[in-house]
Amino acid sequence: MIELRIECFHRVLPAEARTTQWPYFARGTAMTIEEFDDRLANLSRHYEIIDEVQVAKLLDGEASPIRACWVTFDDGYADVLDHAADVVAKYGVRPSIFMTTRVLDGDWWPPVDRWYSALCQTTQQMVRLSHNGISERWDLGTAEGRARAVVCELKSVYLESNAVQQAAIFKMLCDSLEVKEVVHDMPPFLTKGDLVELSSRGWYAGPHGHRHRLLPRLTPEQLEAEVMCSVDTLEGLPLQNRSSWFAYSDGRHDQSVRHQVSRLLSSRGYRGALTIGGRMATGKDSLWSTPRFIA
Ligand SMILES: [Zn+2]
Repeated sequence: MIELRIECFHRVLPAEARTTQWPYFARGTAMTIEEFDDRLANLSRHYEIIDEVQVAKLLDGEASPIRACWVTFDDGYADVLDHAADVVAKYGVRPSIFMTTRVLDGDWWPPVDRWYSALCQTTQQMVRLSHNGISERWDLGTAEGRARAVVCELKSVYLESNAVQQAAIFKMLCDSLEVKEVVHDMPPFLTKGDLVELSSRGWYAGPHGHRHRLLPRLTPEQLEAEVMCSVDTLEGLPLQNRSSWFAYSDGRHDQSVRHQVSRLLSSRGYRGALTIGGRMATGKDSLWSTPRFIA
């Protein structure tokens, strides 16, 4: 039986970013360079770390089953090149990175990063918010309050909403935090040149949607635009290594999403799609619903 552990990383930052980029640490989507190094050291003690070409051989039965681990990154933060790339090179690891392709233009940020940017900018400690019957009260001076600010019903509603509702909730958040609505102090993302450089260092680049929209919330037409715009943007870049996988935004998918994504992408040579399942991939799941662990 195949026993494949697939890790999903997001950001790797210097230790001082624990203060300046605290929402990512509170949410579990950032780790320090030292923690990342320790994590890879630990994984390499317990697993053979393989790349996606070796993963394909394993799934196709062309390689004998081993305890293996595949390292992946989502979204495309610039710190992946700045900090993670040297660490993975030290361990001889070739990760796959799944890009929210709209960020490659450099003047747009995903909804979750807007939320975190507002939290990073506020000088308020006690925060009260209310929207459509959902009330929140955060004491940002405590770890519990900060954890609540990054995982709560209101943030879920915000991420699930359409663009108009999302803008209204974001304005209410900014008003409550007393920060300017202007997007500022956003985390840098990879440029097209950065992504080409990562691929020249052996990284595989694959699509993660164009604007990080949650696919189960979209009409079939919107889903096709979201997925194919991401695929086409990457195909327009001179990448040396391309991933043959797709990663669902926030791992979110359902049966009809799986069906449509597999139909759209298998004809383009893709072999599957990654979710966040919090369990090992065994080869028994549909390849269009392959589970990963959030690292
Ligand atoms: Zn993502």
